[in-house]
Amino acid sequence: LHKYFGELEVLKGINARITDGECICVIGPSGGGKSTFLRCINLLEVPTKGDILIDGVSVMHNLRQLDKMRQKVGMVFQQFNLFPHMTVLKNITLAPVKLKKMTASEADDKAMELLNRVGLADKANEYPNRLSGGQKQRVAIARALMRNPSILLADEPVASLDPVTGRQILCLLRDIQRQRGVSILMNSHNLDLSLEFSTHIVGMNRGRVVFDGAPGDVTEAVLRDIYGEAAAV
Ligand code: ADP
Ligand code: MG
Repeated sequence: LHKYFGELEVLKGINARITDGECICVIGPSGGGKSTFLRCINLLEVPTKGDILIDGVSVMHNLRQLDKMRQKVGMVFQQFNLFPHMTVLKNITLAPVKLKKMTASEADDKAMELLNRVGLADKANEYPNRLSGGQKQRVAIARALMRNPSILLADEPVASLDPVTGRQILCLLRDIQRQRGVSILMNSHNLDLSLEFSTHIVGMNRGRVVFDGAPGDVTEAVLRDIYGEAAAV
């Protein structure tokens, strides 16, 4: 994948493979293109060159079926992105009902099952501003799972949370990955949590992949490649 913003080449030929049921964590210095990479995968940003294959099907060559592709890809964000004026339940059911993927009652049933799964069934009729950060992220995760995606993208999912809550959210994501076979592609600037929760690390620096391997193979030298000399401090 290549991505330019004007003259600025932000992704300089990223090549990565996500296997079923993996949890990949993209790490690297701020501004290196991690978010852009994730956003390209569900075409929140359109890649300048290259392609994305989901279950072997080219996204770039099937732009007319983008909606079908997006069904396979859920996303959660650092700032949760919930609608403040809608209840938790409505936040989760809105898109599938509006896009006519489910009837209102199917959506409610599925949403309640997922809220139960993330431990928030009792908050269905609450508004987001009455929830803690961790609870908001749980709602966002439930929302992302509504259409049974094969991949869940998570852009800094725990960066706004305290360390304990962040760890709980990553545990939840890992359980979902294991139980539902959803592949997770996340990025995080929390190196320790990334190494602990991922099955696979991709190290990005200035738009290039400089490491691709197991968390256990991330040595001091690898960290210097990814983060530069600052990593040695
Ligand atoms: P990271 O997530 O690793 O911090 P980003 O993908 O957010 O990196 O950003 C990579 C580079 O792309 C940065 O230089 C950023 O300023 C630039 N960038 C990101 N989004 C846009 C945009 N919509 N328009 C112009 N430049 C952008
Ligand atoms: Mg980012």
